[in-house]
Amino acid sequence: MSLNQSHQELPIVRTIAELRQQVKAWRQQGLTVGFVPTMGALHQGHLSLVEIAAEHADKVVVSIFVNPTQFAPHEDFDAYPRTEVSDAAALASTPASLIYAPNAREVYAENHSTKISVDGISEGLCAATRPHFFGGVALVVTKLLLQCLPDIAVFGEKDYQQLLVIKRMVRDLNIPVDILSGPTLRDPDGLATSSRNAYLSEAERKIAPTLHATLQETAEIIRSGAPVDRTLEEAIQRLSAAGFDPIDYLELRSGDDLTPLTTYQGPARLLVAARLGDTRLIDNIAV
Ligand code: AMP
Repeated sequence: MSLNQSHQELPIVRTIAELRQQVKAWRQQGLTVGFVPTMGALHQGHLSLVEIAAEHADKVVVSIFVNPTQFAPHEDFDAYPRTEVSDAAALASTPASLIYAPNAREVYAENHSTKISVDGISEGLCAATRPHFFGGVALVVTKLLLQCLPDIAVFGEKDYQQLLVIKRMVRDLNIPVDILSGPTLRDPDGLATSSRNAYLSEAERKIAPTLHATLQETAEIIRSGAPVDRTLEEAIQRLSAAGFDPIDYLELRSGDDLTPLTTYQGPARLLVAARLGDTRLIDNIAV
C-alpha cells in the first residue's frame, strides 16, 4: 500500500488488490465499510455524502475515478477537472478512511467487453441527449462495488435518475450492498454544487441559480393545481429567457420509477437539464 503518512493525510490506494486487502483487514476486525464513489473535483456535496456514509459504517472509502465509459467522444472527459491533491486535502477533514484512485487500466482491461444496461429507468431524461451515459455509469458502479465490496454505498439525489438506475441495478443483480442517498447540497443562492460549476463564467454563474428558482416556482404552481403541461411550458420559456439554451428537458415524473406524469396527484419529482454556455447543468426537486 502506498501510504501518504504525512500529517493528517489519508492513505491512497490505486489497485484493486490494495483496496481489497484493506477492506479485508477491516472486516477481520469486525468493522463495516461504507463507500462513496466520485469523479473527484470534490465539493461540499461530495463531502456531505462522506458524512452520511460515516453515520452508517465504521470505515469509509472514497473513490476518485473519472470514468471514461460514461463520456461520449465529443464530451468533456479530457477537460473534466482533476484535482487529486486538493481532493485529498478536503477528505482529510472528513471521516473518510481511505481514498481509492485507480487509473483507467486498473478499472478496465484493454479488451474489456462486458456491458450493463438497465432498461426503462435509464431511458429518456438525461439519456435522451447522453445515450451512452447510464451504460457507462452502471458498468463502473458495478465494477467499483465489486472491487470494494462495501456494506453500504452513498449516492446523491442531485443525480436523481442515476440514483434510481443504481438502486434498480443493485436490486436486479443481487449486489450485496445497501444503497443510501443524500440530499442535494446547494450554494446559498440555490445552485446545486457541482464539479462542472467550475466551467461557468462569472456572468453565467449569476444566471445559474435561476435553474433551482424555476424548479421551486414550478413545483409551487403544480402543487396549487395548475395544469402540468402549461406550467412546464411556461417554466421552459422562463429558463430560455434567462439564457439557458438548449433546455434538454423539464419534466414531472414519478419519484419512484420516473414514470412520466401529465397530472399531479401526490409525490412526484421535477427534473431539469439545461445548458448555460458550454456547461450542462442538471437539478431536481421533490414536488
Ligand atoms: P460525481 O463526482 O459528479 O460523479 O458525483 C459523485 C457523487 O456525488 C454522486 O453520487 C452525485 O450524485 C453526488 N453529488 C454530486 N453533486 C452533489 C450535490 N450537490 N449534493 C449531493 N450530492 C452530490
